[in-house]
Amino acid sequence: MASTRQITVGGVPIGGGAPVAVQTMTKTETANLQATMAQIHRVAEAGADLVRVAVPREQDAEALKTIVAESPIPIIADIHFNHTLAIKAIEAGAHCVRLNPGNIGGPDKVAEVIAAANKTGTPMRIGVNSGSLPKHLRDLEFENPVEALVTAAVEFVELMERLDFTNFKVSMKSTSVPNTIASNRLLAERIPYPLHLGITEAGTKWAGSLKSAVGLGTLLADGVGDTVRISLSTFHAEEEVKVAWEILKALKLRERGPVLIACPTCGRLQFDMDSVVAEVERRLEAYEDPIEVSVLGCAVNGIGEARHADFGITGAKDAGMIFSKGEPLKKVPTDQLVDELFVEIDRYYASGKKV
Ligand code: SF4
Repeated sequence: MASTRQITVGGVPIGGGAPVAVQTMTKTETANLQATMAQIHRVAEAGADLVRVAVPREQDAEALKTIVAESPIPIIADIHFNHTLAIKAIEAGAHCVRLNPGNIGGPDKVAEVIAAANKTGTPMRIGVNSGSLPKHLRDLEFENPVEALVTAAVEFVELMERLDFTNFKVSMKSTSVPNTIASNRLLAERIPYPLHLGITEAGTKWAGSLKSAVGLGTLLADGVGDTVRISLSTFHAEEEVKVAWEILKALKLRERGPVLIACPTCGRLQFDMDSVVAEVERRLEAYEDPIEVSVLGCAVNGIGEARHADFGITGAKDAGMIFSKGEPLKKVPTDQLVDELFVEIDRYYASGKKV
């Protein structure tokens, strides 16, 4: 897959071979500064590189000034329908503005926004959504929804180019996973601009995470996509960030914190592995390096299967084993396995070694 052009959003490079950027969107009323800033800090801590806030009212555009000044990560203003709000967001210092040219009131109003963005050097995200395609594509949408999405995106890209503006990324969102995959593959062949990936209204934490992993994971594995947002029906935006990171880590596109591997268990299991895995996962949150830790229900294939793990445990009824890189370190009573595992991990770090 050819590399795209690169843009920079508040210092974060997007496209052109840069690491795939993780973003999310706050779920607070933007003008409620206390709630919005608290959520921005939480998503930044969870690993968001960028965060988007909805700007549907004057007071939200006004609040942007403070949000931009106080946020630890770049802010993207999300605008629909009202081009004057887009201009105000640019003037308030938003690091990027997300605009759907199809619902902003026509090419003249888009041109006014682009003139403002050019003045400040503000990048844009040109967003196309399957739910709001331009009227002239409605028939095509019925016959071929993928072609309709791609056509809308290409038309908007051509509008930007006529306005002599290339400082943008593009998103095409659909609730259909196959359509998201097909349309983004097609668009990646047709335009040289960075792509923002997402499955819109993906659903609850469980179903939405899986849909996103399948849709975004397929594209990312093909080399398509420069920034991702997972959309989940949860008030906790940091959950979206964690899911995005798991997808990027699984594809080995980025590293962040430890990787926990656990066997699915079977009839050979003889201890409470659920609690052990949960406890190991909880304690690993305190570590930053990408160490790989494996928890296995028994020693049958255990150590061999997890030979690549930096550290691991195999449990048993009374006593389990702690191992490192496939080599046994020590045998300990099952109820001390987790404590002793972390003794070994901490000893390793204390010796100054890094994975
Ligand atoms: Fe079963 Fe042991 Fe394999 Fe876990 S490691 S799935 S308990 S055989």
